Amino acid sequence: MSIEKLRNSVRNIPDFPIEGIQFKDVTTLFKSAENLREITDILTKMYADKGITKVVGIESRGFIMGPIMAVELGAGFVPVRKPGKLPADVFEEKYEKEYGTDAIQIHKDALSPDDVVLIHDDLLATGGTMIAAYNLVKKIGVKKVYINFLIELEDMKGRELFAKDVEVETLIKF
Ligand code: AMP
Repeated sequence: MSIEKLRNSVRNIPDFPIEGIQFKDVTTLFKSAENLREITDILTKMYADKGITKVVGIESRGFIMGPIMAVELGAGFVPVRKPGKLPADVFEEKYEKEYGTDAIQIHKDALSPDDVVLIHDDLLATGGTMIAAYNLVKKIGVKKVYINFLIELEDMKGRELFAKDVEVETLIKF
């Protein structure tokens, strides 16, 4: 199967949730068993030799492939969540999105200095969400951070927010 087939499985919903947004719907990507297998195999191969010890998934669509990758890589899974959801002590970062502003949190004890972390989300638009997640992981302090998205909206140039020494990988480009 090709990346083109995966790309064609992503449904575009114009003007959702507000006018002017071309919403990339990943439910049509994930409902295919063949697609799930293919994405899992590609991502596992991509990160197999990196020594990943924790996959950090961003609520909520980062909770789909995040735990699957964690299992395949023999790593743990750590959720980054919207405010008010995590029960223990947290760090918080505020950020701007393609539509609206938001905040995310991580448990302060979710990671340790010897962790090699893969942060995963479904889609890179402006990059605001991932930079906030990256800052949260940096606040705790870990050995190394990799960043992964299934989809990149290239026109939004979110990739430019990341320092050159941070490895940012995306599978499907629009
Ligand atoms: P950003 O912070 O602008 O990179 O936005 C990324 C986050 O918002 C991801 O968690 C996406 O799930 C969601 N998102 C932003 N824009 C879109 C879009 N056009 N289609 C689907 N999801 C989006």
